[in-house]
Amino acid sequence: MDLDDMANVRQEVFTGALPGWKDVELSVDEAYYEYRSHEEGVVADYIPVLAEADPDWFGVAVAQTGGRVHGVGDCDVEFTVQSISKAFVFALVCDAIGHDVIKEKVGVNNTGLPFHSVMAIELNRGHPMNPMVNAGALATTALVPGASAEEQWKLIRSGMSQFAGRSLELDGAVYHSEMVSNQRNQAIARLLESYGQIDRDPPEVVDVYTRQCSLRVTASDLAVMGATLAGGGINPVTAEKVVSPEVCRDTLAVMASTGLYERSGEWLFEIGLPAKSGVSGGIVAIAPGKGGIGSFSPLLDSAGNSVRGQRATAHLSRTLGLNLFASDVDPTRVHRPGA
Ligand code: GLU
Repeated sequence: MDLDDMANVRQEVFTGALPGWKDVELSVDEAYYEYRSHEEGVVADYIPVLAEADPDWFGVAVAQTGGRVHGVGDCDVEFTVQSISKAFVFALVCDAIGHDVIKEKVGVNNTGLPFHSVMAIELNRGHPMNPMVNAGALATTALVPGASAEEQWKLIRSGMSQFAGRSLELDGAVYHSEMVSNQRNQAIARLLESYGQIDRDPPEVVDVYTRQCSLRVTASDLAVMGATLAGGGINPVTAEKVVSPEVCRDTLAVMASTGLYERSGEWLFEIGLPAKSGVSGGIVAIAPGKGGIGSFSPLLDSAGNSVRGQRATAHLSRTLGLNLFASDVDPTRVHRPGA
């Protein structure tokens, strides 16, 4: 069977459940207290305003698909969602235009190059390749339905707010700071236009993309947004349907391949969950069927991923048994010689 036909084959879904809620709360608290004193990493400064973040900020939250949320530390401090928006706008566009169109127009393969790479576009003759890097994210934003940039922005803001279960606001200072320093994204949008990959006005596409990156969220919001993708597209707190289960599946697949920049392979190897990080220090990770993990700490590794956030998520993945690739031995199937 051709791989292209596979998406339409009916799927049974078995995912299991989180451990009891008391154990979840305990693990979240452990992850916070274990890593809050870790001081490795640096705060991003390539968007000038981001350099003002407090390096001590650290929050961790888990939301289960059933609606319970537990957060600790700075889990209600707001920060800009940045690249994490790529995953949720991808889901909204996928829901609007479908699996096949997004696969063809944006692509779902890893570029193997940094998130703002121009070379990746050239090497692939203008094809953006993946919605989690800037070229693919700009191409995805260009596909958001709407007669004008303003209509597209409205759809993005309301869709992201539905994922979070509350109305998300634009951080004007971060938006302006990025708009005067994002020449590279402007260039990427022009390059995509030159290859015929985007049909809208490139400066407008960059403007809408920069606004989506400048929406303010908290670690608790990220947990709920992640739990929405974990629960077939139903927001666990508001019970509102945001996207379809098929869109959740597709979004998690691309997050797994490129969610943590050039460390995505290592992340999957160590932690085994689809996730997306952003340069202001947020990480959202998703355990399909079970829930979402949101974390926030602005100290980043050299690839741009929050150091404490990665450690906290790794702790939760291990203690709550979330790694998608892990299995256990069935004791009744173990061959004992002589038995
Ligand atoms: N708005 C940022 C950019 O496009 C997002 C970067 C990120 O979080 O990776 O450069």
